[in-house]
Amino acid sequence: MAEDRPRLGVMGGTFDPVHHGHLVAASEAAATFGLDEVVFVPTGRPSLKQHPEVTPAEHRYLMTVIATASNPRFTVSRVDIDRPGLTYTVDTLRDLRAARPEADLFFITGADALAQLLTWKDADLLWDMAHFVGVTRPGHTLSVEGIPEGSVSILEIPALAISSTDCRRRAQAGEPVWYLVPDGVVQYIAKHGLYRGQDV
Ligand code: ATP
Ligand code: MG
Repeated sequence: MAEDRPRLGVMGGTFDPVHHGHLVAASEAAATFGLDEVVFVPTGRPSLKQHPEVTPAEHRYLMTVIATASNPRFTVSRVDIDRPGLTYTVDTLRDLRAARPEADLFFITGADALAQLLTWKDADLLWDMAHFVGVTRPGHTLSVEGIPEGSVSILEIPALAISSTDCRRRAQAGEPVWYLVPDGVVQYIAKHGLYRGQDV
């Protein structure tokens, strides 16, 4: 990794909705690895999502834009939502590398997603495409077993026991999501009636 190349963090997620756990993870990774920018990449149709109705991509994209708007180093990419079919990380990294050939990529991922790294499509190709940053996440243990030495760094971030699943459940039950997600995202959820009357 060259000294003079821009360092680009990549924070992939369903962001249904984006919450402060995601933002803190991105911010900590940026500070620790000297990232010039962190690009949030909402998934198209995620290949691994369990919950029945993933919110339409445009809503998830716009919530991510709202949540990141105030941070000059945070941006949002449409590469995954504009690509038809299921989202695989190898495609995300390939597209971002094509768009930003001058940058070194740092893929930021939580413990749960990291555990699935090895099961991802073309997993063996991933290690050359980006450096991986595994962030700790309450309730999940981080295991790097099977990942090539030096391909992943572990980053402990302040524990924020926030999940999108819990935010959806709260919105569905009419409970507050204030302070779990940015204010603009609270308002966006209310404005569009997201998560009401659906299985979380
Ligand atoms: P869901 O509950 O629907 O699975 P989520 O909260 O896990 O949603 P995702 O969009 O699936 O959110 O997560 C995107 C990335 O952010 C993943 O790599 C995940 O591990 C990480 N992440 C999510 N929540 C946190 C958190 N509280 N702290 C650190 N990392 C997190
Ligand atoms: Mg998740």
